[in-house]
Amino acid sequence: MSQEKENPKYIIALDQGTTSSRAVIYNNQAKMLFSKNIEFPQIYPQPGWVEHDPMEIFETQIAALKYVIKQAKAKPTEIAAIGITNQRETVILWDKNTGKPVYNAIVWQCRRTAKLCELLIKKGKSQIIQEKTGLIVDAYFSGTKLKWILDSDPKIKKQAKNGNLLAGTVDTWLIWKLSGGKVHITDKTNASRTMLYNIHTLNWDEDLLKLLDIPRCILPEVKNSSEIYGMTDASICGFSVPIASSIGDQQAALFGQGCFSKGQAKNTYGTGCFLLLNTGEKPVKSKNKLITTIALSLNDKVTYALEGSVFMGGATIQWLRDELEIISCAPEIDKLAESVPNSNGAVLVPAFTGLGAPHWDMYARGTFLGLTRGVKKAHICRATLEAIALQVKDVIDAMTEDANIKLKNLKVDGGASVSDVMLQFQSDILKTQVIRPKNVETTSLGAAFLAGLAVGFWKNTDELLQCWQVDKVFNPQMDKKTCTTIEKNWKKAIQKAKNWAES
Ligand code: ADP
Repeated sequence: MSQEKENPKYIIALDQGTTSSRAVIYNNQAKMLFSKNIEFPQIYPQPGWVEHDPMEIFETQIAALKYVIKQAKAKPTEIAAIGITNQRETVILWDKNTGKPVYNAIVWQCRRTAKLCELLIKKGKSQIIQEKTGLIVDAYFSGTKLKWILDSDPKIKKQAKNGNLLAGTVDTWLIWKLSGGKVHITDKTNASRTMLYNIHTLNWDEDLLKLLDIPRCILPEVKNSSEIYGMTDASICGFSVPIASSIGDQQAALFGQGCFSKGQAKNTYGTGCFLLLNTGEKPVKSKNKLITTIALSLNDKVTYALEGSVFMGGATIQWLRDELEIISCAPEIDKLAESVPNSNGAVLVPAFTGLGAPHWDMYARGTFLGLTRGVKKAHICRATLEAIALQVKDVIDAMTEDANIKLKNLKVDGGASVSDVMLQFQSDILKTQVIRPKNVETTSLGAAFLAGLAVGFWKNTDELLQCWQVDKVFNPQMDKKTCTTIEKNWKKAIQKAKNWAES
């Protein structure tokens, strides 16, 4: 038995997402053996409000964990550690004596504190908040959500001030529950999304706590993303193993993509696109309203990143399928797009809900320009894939300009990253190599890697890179003239899309 403990076979990653709780079991080659996804209900108490039941989050997560252990027939002694990655910014407040939440989890998407954020902006707090936290004042982040729960009932506030309540993001809640209430921690990547954490001093910021009237005693201790925080409680999980990583989902994907060094970036082509650029050991202040965030805290060394997102990524493909009905399923887009050499002059700007970084125009709306009688369905498909890639390019350009960094390559994942046509075009216009890994489950892989490092399952990042396998590499092929024309037309099209709804 002691022999088994010295040679554990598995690492388990818990990927607690917005719509489902997922568990993935990996072997020591980082091969995904089994995974299980369990959905849980979304709660919409009012328009724009989004909540989750924290107990449902925990119960689905435990059920997924137990399922993969059973599937793999893994003995507790064979499990080296559990790592956690989570939906970010979502916040929970609970009673430390009863273990019961005092309110539902307020989810990152929830807009209930938008007015409070406007007030902070009006009071001139944007600059100081951005300087301390790297964030833009927005209801998206945890701080104002936590304030909202505390202010919702004087009894809650009193209990919090008396030290009877504990707060945290989803990682904190899960670790506290898994450890049987013994461990109240978060990691620096999650802390950096709260709008309460100073990313320079690496402490909860007293000025911001005062500004939002949040008692320091409810906040978790902030740890590295990779270290043994404690053990799972056998009476809850059925076994006792180390809990050894905690990291926000996008940061986990960056690590799971092997973007360990400055100048490496990943993009997730999901419904929207999520981009992170590793900017190294110093935080970079953005001039383009990108977010400065902590990418990783490993062996007490902090790595920073710039983060930006595109609202309409794969969702643009869904629009072709569900609204225009010119394709019947997503994979059809690639077949049609590759049947033509270019978009025949058609340019789509999918600003259906405005434009995000670096344009930031909420009044922008979608436009289809350059249409002639020669534009066929296939050209529209191609223009759609190009539009996703061109929006990604705009964010990357803003990032590399802010950071004064040349992009080494772009690692990609997410549902739409199966599109070869789109990725070839992405490489062409970025003039950079685009790399798609075999395992596009990069979020859980990142958490697994970090837990494995903490317990010596993997020795170092070099060993992790040996486990990381490439599916396909896309190299720039487009001639310079075509590239310049496309860039010029895109810039013109973006200008036409701007300011539409207002006028
Ligand atoms: P999320 O995590 O945001 O739900 P996913 O990573 O699951 O997103 O990706 C979903 C997106 O991937 C959808 O918007 C869909 O249009 C796109 N997608 C799925 N399959 C394909 C395909 N074969 N070709 C291109 N895009 C696809």
